[in-house]
Amino acid sequence: MGLQGHIAWVTGGGRGIGRACALALAREKCAVAVTARTAGQVQATADACTETGARAMHAVCDVTDAGQVAHTYREIVQTLGPPDILVNNAGWARSAPFLKETIQSVDDHIQVNLHGAFHATQAAIPPMLEKKWGRIVVVASVAGKVGAPYTAAYTASKHAAVGLTRALASEFAEKGITVNAVCPGYTDTELTRENIRRAAEKTGKSVAEMHERFKSFSPQGRFTTPEEVAHVVLFLCSEAAGNINGQAITIDGGGVQW
Ligand code: NDP
Repeated sequence: MGLQGHIAWVTGGGRGIGRACALALAREKCAVAVTARTAGQVQATADACTETGARAMHAVCDVTDAGQVAHTYREIVQTLGPPDILVNNAGWARSAPFLKETIQSVDDHIQVNLHGAFHATQAAIPPMLEKKWGRIVVVASVAGKVGAPYTAAYTASKHAAVGLTRALASEFAEKGITVNAVCPGYTDTELTRENIRRAAEKTGKSVAEMHERFKSFSPQGRFTTPEEVAHVVLFLCSEAAGNINGQAITIDGGGVQW
């Protein structure tokens, strides 16, 4: 991918898709900064990155807190240098029927899935502008493209994240910076497992039954893997992807075909 020597920041890199992205970038010999709220998990991912021979660091950072994001950004610059790759992956999802949805839940989703990407991107862009090179990837969701029942808050927040992606792609197109989103379907991570457990509890169905139901949303009858998402993220960060900008690339086995 020709990414050796670049410096990447992966938010929400402690587990799931973010961990897979951090490892994929480290295997390409990028220096990687791994951040999220759970210290043990970001440390474990950074250690795994270091084992590949890459430089890596970890920091505890809640992306909803602009002050923490700015502080963490400075820590990354001091330790690794200014990131020229940003993977805005930190995210969160809960489902509820619309009439039981609360505005607090909408706010919580927006805080993590939109404001998180906003804060990290605003911190990271100035040195990318100076360098005239940058890659920003937002881990959105198929929920950033289409609606589904019981997901009003999450869907609204992920549509907003895709909107942010498209606006930034236009704004920085002439500056050597690309901004794209990936839109996975249900992916085999703790987030999905937790939502399956909650859906089973609410419906009185077994976890195994719910697991099969969630898998059936994909025409391939399976979950996307974190590594499949990471491969696309890696490509979007590469030199070869320099003409791909403002796109929201679906990775779901063919359920959403745009
Ligand atoms: P996980 O729950 O496995 O991982 C989420 C990561 O984000 C964790 O490292 C978590 O760490 C971090 N995170 C959550 N909230 C915050 C916060 N406020 N500040 C900083 N870090 C935070 O989920 P996935 O890997 O599945 O999800 C990753 C992204 O992919 C999310 O944006 C999600 O919406 C998106 N996605 C997931 C899909 C799926 O089916 N799983 C499908 C489509 C998109 P910690 O809790 O320690 O902070």
